[in-house]
Amino acid sequence: MKPPLKPTLTAPGTLAAKAVAKRPGFPVRLELDAGTPSATKKIAGRAHPERATGTFYQKIPARTALPSGVGLDSRAVRARMVQKLAAQGISDAQVLAAMGHVERHRFVDTALVNQAYEDTSLPIGLGQTISKPNVVARMLELLRQGAGSPAGKLGRVLEIGTGCGYQAAVLAELATEVYSIERLRGLHDKARENLRAFRLANVHLLFGDGMVGYAKGAPYAAIIAAAGGESIPAAWVEQLAVGGRLVAPMHIAGSAQALVVLDKTAQGVTQTVLEAVHFVPLKSGTS
Ligand code: SAH
Repeated sequence: MKPPLKPTLTAPGTLAAKAVAKRPGFPVRLELDAGTPSATKKIAGRAHPERATGTFYQKIPARTALPSGVGLDSRAVRARMVQKLAAQGISDAQVLAAMGHVERHRFVDTALVNQAYEDTSLPIGLGQTISKPNVVARMLELLRQGAGSPAGKLGRVLEIGTGCGYQAAVLAELATEVYSIERLRGLHDKARENLRAFRLANVHLLFGDGMVGYAKGAPYAAIIAAAGGESIPAAWVEQLAVGGRLVAPMHIAGSAQALVVLDKTAQGVTQTVLEAVHFVPLKSGTS
């Protein structure tokens, strides 16, 4: 029998109670030259020995494709990210709105802030990663498409793998209550710090082994995991409400991982295997 989870930040008031640490802001201005997929930027530098001119031209990857000289705050860059998500097939307006609201750059290290709105996973420390926006949006959309899901907000949701807390913040807009578990103390603390400024009274951060779920909050309208194991732990299925949906990565053959959707009905549980994904491993115990 595993030791019970210890909720260390369950009192909503605690989130807002402490002084809010000043975090670095988003760069006010992105120095991009053109809105084309790949722009050429003039840079200063020494003349290339084989070239007559002293001007270098550097290829700029298609990052945000924003118009020239526009002073940009992070809202504009997020709007652009949301447009891309929609173009990639995410159609749930509530998911897109939530992704447009939550400041992803506040959840990554200062050195990675410029990449915060690219469709890429990023390191968050201790060998873990924040999933790319497209994967977060896809999983949240799938959660909301469960048969028992209301048109409005989901009820109580369990998240396994808090990581930096980003997805929990997005979930906070889509669900009435979010219980999010992390097994690494360092990341649990980091998420708590990251989320403090957001003052999300409906997010409950828990330190513990998410493989056993969190029975005290059950039954859950939805369960979402950000780490993949060999199978879906029985505790998750038990703690899912009838009519609820679970979305998680799972190994399907050897090391290949796929997104799996479980729907729990009065008749039983159905499992649907979707596209291939690459999540960090689901591990037992805490550290
Ligand atoms: N949703 C997160 C993604 C974090 S990556 C975010 O937005 O940042 C997945 C996380 O799952 C890692 O932090 C990892 O430590 C955690 N994890 C892996 N196995 C776990 C378990 N059994 N219980 C809780 N967390 C777990």
